[in-house]
Amino acid sequence: MKCEVVAVGTELLLGQIVDTNSSWIGEQLALAGIDSHFQTKVGDNWDRIRAALEAALDRSDAVIVCGGLGPTQDDITRDVIAEVMGTTLELDPAIEERIRAMFAARGREMSENNLRQAMVPVGATTIPQQPGTAPGLVCPIGDKVMYAVPGVPYEMREMVLGTVLPDLQRRAGVVSTIESRVLRTWGHSESGLAEMLAERIVHLDGAGNPTLAFLASGVEGLKVRVTAKAGGPDEVAKLLDEEVAVVAAILGDLVFSERDETMEQVVIDLLRAEGRTLAVAESVTGGYLTGRLSSTPGAGDVLRGGVVAYDPEVKFDVLGLQPGGVVNEEAAVAMADGVRTLLEADVGLATTGVAGPAQAEGVEPGTVFLGLVVGDRTESQRVRLPGDPERVRQFACITALNWLRLVLQGRR
Ligand code: ATP
Ligand code: MG
Repeated sequence: MKCEVVAVGTELLLGQIVDTNSSWIGEQLALAGIDSHFQTKVGDNWDRIRAALEAALDRSDAVIVCGGLGPTQDDITRDVIAEVMGTTLELDPAIEERIRAMFAARGREMSENNLRQAMVPVGATTIPQQPGTAPGLVCPIGDKVMYAVPGVPYEMREMVLGTVLPDLQRRAGVVSTIESRVLRTWGHSESGLAEMLAERIVHLDGAGNPTLAFLASGVEGLKVRVTAKAGGPDEVAKLLDEEVAVVAAILGDLVFSERDETMEQVVIDLLRAEGRTLAVAESVTGGYLTGRLSSTPGAGDVLRGGVVAYDPEVKFDVLGLQPGGVVNEEAAVAMADGVRTLLEADVGLATTGVAGPAQAEGVEPGTVFLGLVVGDRTESQRVRLPGDPERVRQFACITALNWLRLVLQGRR
């Protein structure tokens, strides 16, 4: 079974967007054990798309076409596929209904153009995963097959994982399941993680399965993706469980989630499990911390609220700090304690410091003080954070959340 990829879009040729879809599909095909010998990029031009599709179909048993399924006049992928199939397009009433309903739900006027997306080549079936408006297609051509998926990466990925790969494997007689799990880490660089995992990676490279990959997510830390392949879902789950446990043991405190959760989700869940409530006092983070926590599922059971005490007067008047300096560890603790009392919570967390660009109270920009009051534990921290003021605020949030996570887990 050979399968190749054709990415459609003039922007790809002009270098306006990078064809990450083809590389991602290539990786998935390799993992699924399906040979792939060609990848083509072609502009939004009828004759050239047709030539590209025919050449691909000639050389391979299956072709995945991505892009050009949208509602506009230059989105012609489905029309060209119908021509290559030697058939015509017909309106699929179920898709028409779905598209009309999507527009109605958002209260938006639907232009008739959008119904182009409900046109399906006779003989093709639509892909059940439909994260956007454009339906994906499975188009049998003789004993070969052509799949059409949208260019929008997350829509494409859902359809490839949900339908295209399983269908290809079924056709190839390959029975295997591929799944990934994501561990999230905070507090170490990519090279640092690679060094910690070096021995494990060598071991896994030898075996070829599971595999590990690092994915950067900015101030939110680094993800470690574990991917495994096996004969069925149970076997894959077992391989993933084992490997995730090994990686988590090696990385220890750095791992804040083994299930791709956000830091605030982990914190909310920890508090909720213990039936504790949280109050936040923010100066340098200006409400970001409360914002992140309050938009997390489960926050309603846990988060009492937050006070943005930006002006020193507010720290004195509302949070009860003694008049004096407000950019130091003592102030951070007093803020945490003050807000905990004020909002009648079990845990108080506070941030103060200097995001920059100028110093304050003789303290350098990028210096942040965190205060935490949990039960009878009262603690503070002084941290130096890199970057411009915005980055310092973001870093301060995640640093505070990670600290609270570690304390709640009994790791600090
Ligand atoms: P839509 O229904 O959104 O119009 P479409 O199938 O017509 O989907 P395109 O118009 O080709 O898809 O692409 C939509 C967007 O998806 C592009 O603006 C681009 O950001 C992204 N995209 C398209 N092709 C690729 C690709 N090969 N690699 C990465 N991103 C892509
Ligand atoms: Mg489009």
